Amino acid sequence: MKKSDIEPFFATLKAANPMPNTELEYTTVFELLAAVLLSAQATDVGVNKATRRLFPVAGTPQKILDLGLEGLEEHIKTIGLYRSKARHLLETCRILVEQHNSQVPRTREALEALPGVGRKTANVVLNVAFGQPTMAVDTHIFRVSNRTGLAPGKNPLAVELQLIKRVPAAYAVDSHHWLILHGRYVCQARKPQCWQCSVATWCDFKGKTPAP
Ligand code: SF4
Repeated sequence: MKKSDIEPFFATLKAANPMPNTELEYTTVFELLAAVLLSAQATDVGVNKATRRLFPVAGTPQKILDLGLEGLEEHIKTIGLYRSKARHLLETCRILVEQHNSQVPRTREALEALPGVGRKTANVVLNVAFGQPTMAVDTHIFRVSNRTGLAPGKNPLAVELQLIKRVPAAYAVDSHHWLILHGRYVCQARKPQCWQCSVATWCDFKGKTPAP
């Protein structure tokens, strides 16, 4: 994608959705961190179903610690990989209570030191909770960035670095939401809906799908 095409690409996505947000449900930064940690290889819909039951009874690190491993597993057992996620979340809660006064840290280094929190989760928290222009590259962003030619890269980190370099500052904070939503609902993996895609004009994908 030509550099001059990137501005209208994002301007179009922004016009359709001026204030995008994550589809994970949360009311505090801690709940956001917990939801993102639970969402690895699971759908936002599935995570929301579980956290709607979990957060009202245990929405703080101490309350999750009080549930214990079995209690926490019981609340999140509908989510894939729930056993390891429960262990990671409990250990993360212990560190938050003991080392961070039960607050979610604001730095990448401290976030990535938490069990179950990798670069992508840290990027989501830094972006959504603290407004930093990070790019949390998930499967949708990886696909859309490569297909469109916006930020080609062989792995998520390469795409992330390309996005940071190429996305204009005015769109940097919200761009990852627009790309995720575009990938989830329009530029889908098996059959992208190119015939009704608002940004097709600037997309470099050679195999655009015709209207059915
Ligand atoms: S034109 Fe097709 S491939 Fe390009 S962004 Fe739109 S849906 Fe995706």
